[in-house]
Amino acid sequence: MSGRAAPFYCPYCGDEDLRPSEEGTAKGKGAAWECAACNRAFALSFLGLLAGGLPSAHTEGGDPS
Ligand SMILES: [Zn+2]
Repeated sequence: MSGRAAPFYCPYCGDEDLRPSEEGTAKGKGAAWECAACNRAFALSFLGLLAGGLPSAHTEGGDPS
């Protein structure tokens, strides 16, 4: 995982005209994006995996361990 996830839509106005923000968020704080339609800037960050873990399909077929 690269650490930079690209959003497809602005979470505030729903527009697709997003661009990476030059105003830095600190490394590891998430990627900053700007919406050209509503002029909002926001950051995306990965919080962690859900407690339920991966879907069961991932473990099907016999685990060698
Ligand atoms: Zn927007």
